[in-house]
Amino acid sequence: MRVGFIGLGNMGAHMAKRLLDVGHELFVFDLDPAAMQKLAEHGAHPLHGIDAFGRQQLEVIFTMLPAAAQVNEVYLGQQGLLALLQGQNCILVDCSTIDPHSAQQVAQHAQEKQLQILDAPVSGGTVGAKEGTLTFMVGGPQSTLQAIEPLFAAMGKNTIHCGDNGHGQVAKIANNMLLGISMIGVAEAMSLGMNLGMDPHTLAEVINHSSGRCWSSDTNNPVPNICPNAPASHEYQGGFASGLMQKDLRLALQAAQKAEQSVFMGALAEQMYQHLNLQQDPKMDFSAIIRLYGKG
Ligand code: NAD
Repeated sequence: MRVGFIGLGNMGAHMAKRLLDVGHELFVFDLDPAAMQKLAEHGAHPLHGIDAFGRQQLEVIFTMLPAAAQVNEVYLGQQGLLALLQGQNCILVDCSTIDPHSAQQVAQHAQEKQLQILDAPVSGGTVGAKEGTLTFMVGGPQSTLQAIEPLFAAMGKNTIHCGDNGHGQVAKIANNMLLGISMIGVAEAMSLGMNLGMDPHTLAEVINHSSGRCWSSDTNNPVPNICPNAPASHEYQGGFASGLMQKDLRLALQAAQKAEQSVFMGALAEQMYQHLNLQQDPKMDFSAIIRLYGKG
């Protein structure tokens, strides 16, 4: 298929490469020419602006951008994708993590121009993007998803239809709010046990064979050297940045405010990651939250 990809950062570069690897003809754009050059070396066609996407007769265009501001610019700008592609048979897929309301607004504008669009944020991080094991949480018509399912399969191992446009983003921020909270829970429980004199390896073994077990305890434990491959065992380098965790919690709080839904734990978690990010490098893995308890 003739596929476009806009946003070749930590996630997008790997995802685009996987589409190339399974034989699609790929047209790429990023504000950073070096990011485009790397993909061009693998056979992608670099384009020199969003406006060039209107002339390529593409069947699908993916975007993987930092936040809603960039998504709005790329889709809704005067020279944005919706204006350029009006009347063309091109499916648009935004994989960025943004608030559900913005995703719904972009979708509404797309539908007014008779364009098909999906929100498809991902879970799995840069490792998942590189290895093609991402989970896609997709909002929008199921028939649109089915039409391009093989493209999702090239980049991920799970593609879950979550409902209408915006529901992919709802699923993403709900999951990440839970993740942020569960990591704090594990950090607090491990710190308490250690301060009461317990060996952290034994405590982790107990938790991981008991009802407190979760991904933050058995795969990404915040105490160094419990999980050898976890960022905690490597000075909290790599993994999922605490700055991105705070960004996702803020999106959850914004969405909760719109829905007049209380998120007691989510709000506290956002404050705790903010505190951590003001004290330390926000690029560190979010499991460094255990440092607020004097551990790690
Ligand atoms: P990134 O900052 O590494 O990459 C974003 C890319 O978009 C950059 O290369 C930037 O130059 C480009 N860009 C920005 N504005 C642009 C524009 N107007 N036109 C073209 N290109 C533009 O970010 P990332 O880590 O790849 O994350 C992308 C999205 O995925 C974010 O919404 C993030 O929350 C989400 N996400 C990230 C991870 C992760 O582990 N990094 C995991 C899951 C989801």
